[in-house]
Amino acid sequence: MTEIHPLRLRAFIAQVDTTGGIEACWPWRGFIDDEGYGLFRGVGAHRMAYELMGRPIPDGLIIDHRCHNVDTTCPGGTDCRHRRCVNPAHLEPVTRGENVLRSQHTMPHQNAAKTHCPNGHEYTAENTYSRQRSGGIARRECRACRRERSRIEARESRAAARRTQSAA
Ligand SMILES: [Zn+2]
Ligand SMILES: [Zn+2]
Ligand SMILES: [Zn+2]
Repeated sequence: MTEIHPLRLRAFIAQVDTTGGIEACWPWRGFIDDEGYGLFRGVGAHRMAYELMGRPIPDGLIIDHRCHNVDTTCPGGTDCRHRRCVNPAHLEPVTRGENVLRSQHTMPHQNAAKTHCPNGHEYTAENTYSRQRSGGIARRECRACRRERSRIEARESRAAARRTQSAA
């Protein structure tokens, strides 16, 4: 489990929308990756939320969203608004196989018809590239998001370098 510094915890909490109340979904207000998951410093925000509760994620397991599994109206795929939920009460570690079974009520194939990425950038020819995924499936990815992601990563590695210097 990752060691969590109080400043890191504060930065995390600042990006969580808990206005829906204790039982509602807590949408991530920070960066959303191409798959629709919240991203906190390169790590899935929902995974981070689970670990913040002091519960390490067992090896090889992924974090499943219970709120998604009970919502039969969810279109699934990157349109799923549960993916960005970081309410620890909605999160549960499962195997990949279980995760797929539980998501069978959704319709991921609808994603091909989508016109915008999860961050609202339009999928134009210029803004889209296709990336080969494991399993041989090519999928669309958003260039604007990729730029944004590398900007965030560059900023964080500079910040990390500064921290190392000041600690020396
Ligand atoms: Zn939720
Ligand atoms: Zn969903
Ligand atoms: Zn985008």
